[in-house]
Amino acid sequence: MDEAQRSHVDVLIVGAGISGIGAGYHLQTQCPEKSFVILEGLESFGGTWLVHKYPGIRSDSDLYTFGYRFKPWTGAPIATAAEILTYMEEVIDENDLDQHIRYQHWINTASWSSEDQRWTVTSVRKDTGEQVSMTANFLWMCQGYYKHKEGYTPDWDGFDDYKGQVIHPQVWPEDVDLGGKRVLVIGSGATAATVVPAIAGDCEHVTVLQRSPTYFMPARNENELADRLRKLEVDEKWIHEIVRKEILFNQEEFTRQAIEEPERVKGELIGAVKALLPDGYDVEKHFTPSYRPWQQRLAFVPDGDIFQGITAGKASMVTDQIDRFTPKGVRLKSGDSVEADIIITATGFDLCVLGDIDFTVDGKAVDFADTVTYRGMMFTGVPNMVWIFGYFRASWTLRVDLIGDFVCRLLKHMDAKGVRSVTPELLPEDVSMPLSGWIDPDNFNPNYLKRSMDKMPKRGDRPEWQHTQDYWQEKTDIPAVELDDPVFNYQS
Ligand SMILES: Cc1cc2nc3c(=O)[nH]c(=O)nc-3n(C[C@H](O)[C@H](O)[C@H](O)COP(=O)(O)OP(=O)(O)OC[C@H]3O[C@@H](n4cnc5c(N)ncnc54)[C@H](O)[C@@H]3O)c2cc1C
Repeated sequence: MDEAQRSHVDVLIVGAGISGIGAGYHLQTQCPEKSFVILEGLESFGGTWLVHKYPGIRSDSDLYTFGYRFKPWTGAPIATAAEILTYMEEVIDENDLDQHIRYQHWINTASWSSEDQRWTVTSVRKDTGEQVSMTANFLWMCQGYYKHKEGYTPDWDGFDDYKGQVIHPQVWPEDVDLGGKRVLVIGSGATAATVVPAIAGDCEHVTVLQRSPTYFMPARNENELADRLRKLEVDEKWIHEIVRKEILFNQEEFTRQAIEEPERVKGELIGAVKALLPDGYDVEKHFTPSYRPWQQRLAFVPDGDIFQGITAGKASMVTDQIDRFTPKGVRLKSGDSVEADIIITATGFDLCVLGDIDFTVDGKAVDFADTVTYRGMMFTGVPNMVWIFGYFRASWTLRVDLIGDFVCRLLKHMDAKGVRSVTPELLPEDVSMPLSGWIDPDNFNPNYLKRSMDKMPKRGDRPEWQHTQDYWQEKTDIPAVELDDPVFNYQS
């Protein structure tokens, strides 16, 4: 059948970002008999890498592990959004995935019927306004974890009084002219670390205002092992595999050290930053975070570029809190003020649970906060659905490949059993386990998660009922999941 005509599919994948394209690849390769469609709200593929267009936009993970395990990465480890989009385009072309993708379809409802044992998904076409309805046996949710339409802006006093231009990096305007302007960047996370070096040369001056310092990890944007293997003319597939293994080994070691010896790791990270700043710079005030390394994502800084701007006097740091906005800039709690022609609010994004889609199961609305997650990918009481939510401390995409294998194994298992649905359910011994928020804040606590934890599914006190964020454990545990475990309730 012509893929574009189907109104029913075995698997409906939501989103054509790195997760959805990976899901399509795994499904096509491992379950070639399954029909599938990828519905995407935007006009093209890429998700995060299509949406974000701010100057300098790049990955903060290496592409050997942010890339899929099945498609070698051949460039420098840290990649621009454009390079990531090219890589994804090659995956789509090489595997003929385009025929399965329908763009400009914003999904707004998904309803499960136990009688029909299938989902009905409705979407609105952005180009025509038409309502489109489709049915699917299985939903594979690859819609990311934040609202794609706009970023998060705190509710600041006097915000409307400010007379200059305000830009959120998530919706960067095409025609912005920074030439000779005084720019204030609010926030010091990965986005600020990217934007500041990219714009500092154009502006009169860039001030970075942060409430509290962030950890930065300066390093050269190169991988010595990959370069050496390339010199030896080793096959790119081998290089990809070997370099992935080396990076993952080093990251596991670093994560263990960050947890077991946080003070030593903190000292090393701050020492590396200090070495790139002028003598006498107040590193204690501006670059010494109060949290442990890895409790929030580390901001990778290729070639220490943000520190070059500070050293050259083109950029400066202010560590303080906003009291209120004024017509010319911001007044700070310390009593100081910063004046600016343009303010860039690098204040992050708004978490969004499952694409803001209204889910129902047999006519009853699903509140995901009332569900418990099975390994951070399925939810109690929600049949035939898997969500890809990647890792924070390791590359997101590692989980795309792991869950890809899991879903394909599960679908084959269901066919072999002759069943049509699977729903994870708490076992009698699990029913009274203590429940808490999606992620343990002592383990990982970025602000966007803290702000919206109440909307997310709950976690239990044992690994199968948690998104542990531990790739190194999950790479053994997920392939070993016993699919006839009573936690899986199958129905014919
Ligand atoms: C600026 C930035 C940089 C990042 N850098 C890294 C990094 O270096 N390494 C790393 O591991 N992680 C990084 N992340 C996290 C990043 O989001 C993930 O790594 C990854 O790109 C997410 O891929 P995804 O396909 O799951 O989701 P997304 O990239 O968010 O794509 C989801 C897609 O689903 C579509 N969609 C959503 N809802 C609907 C709906 N209701 N109907 C139809 N379509 C819908 C969206 O339009 C989008 O195209 C970064 C995040 C940001 C914001």
